[in-house]
Amino acid sequence: MGNQWSYDSMFIDGTWTSEGAEGVIEVIDPATEGIIGTVPDAGLKAADAAIQAARRAFDSGPWPRTSVRERAAVLRRFAAILDERHDALKELVVAESGSVGFLADMIQVRGTINIAQWIGEAMERAVQWTETSPPVGGPTGMAGYAVVREPVGVVAAITPFNFPFFLNIVKVLPALAAGCTVVLKPHQWTPLDAYEIAKAAQDAELPAGVLNVISGGAEIGAEMTSHPMVDMVTFTGSTPTGRAIMAAAAPTVKRLQLELGGKSASIVLDDVPEEHVADMGMLTSMIHAGQGCALNTRLLLPAHLLDAYVEGARKSLTWLKVGDPREPDSLIGPLIREQQRLRVEDYVRAGIAEGAELVFGGKRPAHLAKGFFYEPTLFINARNDMRIAQEEIFGPVLTVITYHTEEEAIAIANDSIYGLGGGVVTGNTARGFNVARQIRAGNVQVQTVDTAVSNYERIGGAGPGWSAEEPTGVGITGVFGGFKQSGVGREWGHHGIEEFTQLKTLTWG
Ligand code: NAD
Repeated sequence: MGNQWSYDSMFIDGTWTSEGAEGVIEVIDPATEGIIGTVPDAGLKAADAAIQAARRAFDSGPWPRTSVRERAAVLRRFAAILDERHDALKELVVAESGSVGFLADMIQVRGTINIAQWIGEAMERAVQWTETSPPVGGPTGMAGYAVVREPVGVVAAITPFNFPFFLNIVKVLPALAAGCTVVLKPHQWTPLDAYEIAKAAQDAELPAGVLNVISGGAEIGAEMTSHPMVDMVTFTGSTPTGRAIMAAAAPTVKRLQLELGGKSASIVLDDVPEEHVADMGMLTSMIHAGQGCALNTRLLLPAHLLDAYVEGARKSLTWLKVGDPREPDSLIGPLIREQQRLRVEDYVRAGIAEGAELVFGGKRPAHLAKGFFYEPTLFINARNDMRIAQEEIFGPVLTVITYHTEEEAIAIANDSIYGLGGGVVTGNTARGFNVARQIRAGNVQVQTVDTAVSNYERIGGAGPGWSAEEPTGVGITGVFGGFKQSGVGREWGHHGIEEFTQLKTLTWG
């Protein structure tokens, strides 16, 4: 494929510059291990220049003072440009993140552009920008108040490697919608699409300094999260990094939005028939090779359904193809880097050492010589105190734990430092919602047996189940975020825009 996407400068203060850069980051395609592009490694000077530019644009530029309607017009233009560039973006995001086709359509690219379009189209009415009182008396008879939403200020946006374009957009656009100015730093393994976002911002004529894009690793992130000119940090990544960011942001009391890790549990209730359990397969835990924060990586089964599940999961391997994301029938792509694959291997060894039973997987696929691939892996007879049940593996590994009573299942699901996702599969909707309400997590899916899409075979790698024409609800409806150590704050929909605003009361009379 060659070195296709290279950027020799960063986007700071409305111009492309390499001043202050301290080297070059090579970006690798995780499926081929080939270099696909390069970006500058911003030194601390360039990071500081980007933050100063965002500060100036906020304090004296037009953007925060522009009406919501005018900002919406710019963001619609921005989204339209991304939409025109969809095919090139898809090629890029697949190459940088290893995303398979259906996932590129559902979330990584098409779904993300849908979100950008939704923000431009809906931000005016979806957010209650001003709340006014009726006259409440006073000497003039006209006393009253208004509560107005104002932008928080300069936002440092820091994103992880797994859904790079999606997460860059669900941070940058809501922040811009609110009137904030932004410095975006994507993960050093997946920085390329952020530069395409910068190009689109420039072409949409976003004023100078309103969006700045730099690249680098932890050192640059640490600078952004401690810098006194930054008012808010929006971060998606691991819980350990989230803790470090909270500490770095404390001395200057920054607003924080933290979207962190998860170890979510899906509970299959005892009213689910064997045939259904046998048909469930494993894809939902294996999406993006398990590199998803809210995937249900623990499956809680009533003991009598274990054999049926294992038999069905084994059968699903016939269609759960691991392979190059560009092949239309691939459903599981590579892990992002060799070091992540080594980490997964470490967890598999820990699972075996702690006494869980490895049913299948637990190794690299023999047919793929290149790329950081790993086989779908199933552990059964695990206990919830094992590392494979408590820690985020971030690979295609599912841990099955059996239980005896509904109360026990809920207690196991909640016995975690995390609280991001979860699921309930049941024959009875009311029962499902009752259990879902007791799971301490931000996003819980209830599936009843008659409506559940249990066999994902029909999705197909290229996405016949996820048509590019049909906007998905991901990132548009509802909100996303974690309880407990899975995070602080919420993304998506109007709540996601409101996170970047602060409320001010104006009174008169
Ligand atoms: P990570 O925490 O290693 O890195 C994320 C980002 O933080 C990168 O840009 C990195 O350069 C930067 N960074 C690293 N150290 C920093 C520091 N000290 N200060 C500031 N920035 C720093 O996470 P990752 O491995 O890229 O991503 C995987 C993690 O992200 C998983 O834990 C996953 O669950 C989580 N995640 C959460 C969500 C969510 O919405 N809750 C979504 C996707 C991923």
